[in-house]
Amino acid sequence: MGRISIIGGGPAGLRAAEIASAAGAEVTLFDAKPSVGRKFLIAGKGGLNLTHGEDLASFVTRYRGPDLANDFFQKLIGEFTPQDLRAWAADLGVETFQASSGRVYPKALKAAPLLRRWVGRLKENGTRFEMNHRLARIQPGSPIRLEFGQGASHETDAVILALGGGSWPNTGSDGSWTEVLTKIGVQIHPLQPANCGWEHAWPDEIVEVIEGQPLKNIHVRARNQLAIGELMLTRYGLEGGAIYQLGHELRSQAHPAIAIDFKPTFDEAGLISKLGNPRKDFLKIARSAWKLSDAAHALLSQKDYPSIESLAREVKHHVIPLTCPRPIEEAISSAGGIGWSELNEDLMLKKLPGLFAAGEMIDWEAPTGGYLMQGCFATGTRAAHGALAFLRQFD
Ligand SMILES: Cc1cc2nc3c(=O)[nH]c(=O)nc-3n(C[C@H](O)[C@H](O)[C@H](O)COP(=O)(O)OP(=O)(O)OC[C@H]3O[C@@H](n4cnc5c(N)ncnc54)[C@H](O)[C@@H]3O)c2cc1C
Repeated sequence: MGRISIIGGGPAGLRAAEIASAAGAEVTLFDAKPSVGRKFLIAGKGGLNLTHGEDLASFVTRYRGPDLANDFFQKLIGEFTPQDLRAWAADLGVETFQASSGRVYPKALKAAPLLRRWVGRLKENGTRFEMNHRLARIQPGSPIRLEFGQGASHETDAVILALGGGSWPNTGSDGSWTEVLTKIGVQIHPLQPANCGWEHAWPDEIVEVIEGQPLKNIHVRARNQLAIGELMLTRYGLEGGAIYQLGHELRSQAHPAIAIDFKPTFDEAGLISKLGNPRKDFLKIARSAWKLSDAAHALLSQKDYPSIESLAREVKHHVIPLTCPRPIEEAISSAGGIGWSELNEDLMLKKLPGLFAAGEMIDWEAPTGGYLMQGCFATGTRAAHGALAFLRQFD
């Protein structure tokens, strides 16, 4: 069948190794770190949100990226669905459950047992693991020559690159591969933080009150995009699911800003009628009448309100200008990477036959909720099938 080298042992690379070795290819998996799956294990600290239980039609709309064909993820996730991912985990003896949020986790809320069994099965199926191999250079051709740091090299018939994005670089995915691929003519969009916090310079007088406080049951908008979820107020700005969902929109704005609706279940008239008819101290009275949290109250107290109407308007539309996203090192994932125009439907680099890509290193992004992991598994599956079909041409 031929030799397939996989570089990068995150979920995308491990999944690709699984498909390729099951089909009888001679598989070697290289990773720069002494062990695989380091970011996968970090994800386990949050319970390992493997996928999401929402219906497939909405699920596939969560993926975006420049030049990404509308139906690409629809077809891709159709080939390896959230149900398939749960069945895959069950096959490794790890049962999953769907939380009330729709997020799917292993019952034990841990990544380590799953990773251990996964790697064990790959070894049994003949996948060779070569750790401490940092990819430094690729010489395309037939065979393809891979050069690693410290003089090691390897010849192979097909390569699946699964080198990850640029967040949490100490897990191994440090984005240094962008240089390696640029040198062989691949167009890379700069890696940017996605699913990340944003900065806002809070006035000194409220920072002590708001730091570490959550804002719950709110609606957050960036231009026309709505996010429902929570925000966490931090010393430097904002974190939390609601702002993570809006990252793509915020990055496109010259002057990024969000607007918070603290009371989404009431309209302005409803809020006003709950307040009675006070003549002054509107915010003080509204705090208990509208059940405003301490954090919401602190944010609202930055302005004076000449009327109940002006306060109700502010509660429904409190604008927070943002300066910049938090550094990529802190982000949960990154956007940017290999442009879609560089790849064919099999995720093979059009200009470099035999070289495939999978996972977060391709320019797509998705919100938290299990969509990232599912996207990595699905692209790993597609790239492996592509590499196998590529090799079969020469049989
Ligand atoms: C804190 C945190 C929590 C998360 N929680 C979740 C979650 O619950 N659910 C979810 O869906 N997603 C979650 N994610 C995101 C998810 O972990 C990533 O999207 C996913 O791991 C990306 O998989 P990947 O296989 O593309 O790359 P990675 O997992 O990043 O793996 C890339 C591999 O490539 C190796 N590598 C990089 N460069 C080189 C090189 N030059 N040579 C050789 N090897 C190299 C690295 O060492 C690494 O092992 C979380 C991320 C973080 C940071």
